[in-house]
Amino acid sequence: MTDKQSLTTASRRLLTELQSHGLRLVEPDAGLSSRRGGAGPSDHKAVTIEGHTIMVPVHTSGASLSPFLAGAPDASGAGELTRDGAAVATIRFPRQPRFYALQTFDGVPYRHIATLHGDDVLATTVLQTCIRYASRRNACRFCAIGESLAAGRTIAHKTPDQLAEVARAAVLLDGVKHMVLTTGTPNLTDRGAQVLCESAFAIKAAVDLPLQGQCEPPDDDRWFHRMKAAGIDTLGMHLEAVTPEVRARIMPGKATVPIERYLEAFAAAVAVFGRGQVSTYILAGMGDTPAAILEMCGRLVTLGVYPFVVPFVPISGTPLADHPAPTPEFMRDVLTPLAALLKRGGLRSSEMKAGCGKCGACSSLSAYES
Ligand code: SF4
Repeated sequence: MTDKQSLTTASRRLLTELQSHGLRLVEPDAGLSSRRGGAGPSDHKAVTIEGHTIMVPVHTSGASLSPFLAGAPDASGAGELTRDGAAVATIRFPRQPRFYALQTFDGVPYRHIATLHGDDVLATTVLQTCIRYASRRNACRFCAIGESLAAGRTIAHKTPDQLAEVARAAVLLDGVKHMVLTTGTPNLTDRGAQVLCESAFAIKAAVDLPLQGQCEPPDDDRWFHRMKAAGIDTLGMHLEAVTPEVRARIMPGKATVPIERYLEAFAAAVAVFGRGQVSTYILAGMGDTPAAILEMCGRLVTLGVYPFVVPFVPISGTPLADHPAPTPEFMRDVLTPLAALLKRGGLRSSEMKAGCGKCGACSSLSAYES
């Protein structure tokens, strides 16, 4: 990852506004190709401003109306970022990784197995199917896990051998520093922990790469020990929303695992992975108030869990495609006190061994921390 610089208040504000408004591009193919559909950041492009790489919406309907425009990059990869026509910063686009040119012996392009996120993170969705996504009634309304599969841009199950092969190439050819393994939920028992263990074990046997596993809380806390023993360094279990009403509305299937179970699982996981090595994703802009988000973040920080609060980005093809992104003011009202909360709790994104909190590209939170 690019070394993160301390930012001025004006620069932090710029990153927050860019993520809320999105970005228009003079040259849509500049830098790392943007993703449509799938789990994780989608309809986004990675851009670097003042040493901070962030994912910025480029394909959403809001982005087409954004006041921000990225000019074509010059030979060094730098372009001019303007706001309503006035230059505000220099913008860079992480380059296309070399491993994207390769494919497995059986002809699967490496980029269908794992992709580059931010500028130095390898990310994969091990199982591109989910029991919750199978029914519209239970599916998370923000999720596009089936879109990239239907479009032939990925495969349903990345095998341990495939993941190990791609991870090794991404380290050797592109210097990736850590890897995120997320998964659709395959069952109501281990909820993905087993497939993460099999994947992590094979990757760690091939290459020394810090790994984050991401799944719903499994039904048995012994899975945390198994995941750690398999080579997973940090664990993400994602609340997404913090109040029961909002959870039931936006993720009816996943909300059947109550917040209390998440809190129990967080405590058990921190005992295994360590303070600051367990995290959760919270989507701001889904209906939870800043006060409710901050109240939950306070409980999480006390437990030793890093709450990665990201602005919701409406993804085309999902039921929430037209739901507005949170305003920059909303994000500032959450991220400024959250950074202070993290500091008091002694949690820092830079000290995580791997994962979304360490990458930080989907939120400007780390810019507030620094
Ligand atoms: S924060 Fe997580 S989901 Fe977002 S770009 Fe980084 S690794 Fe990917």
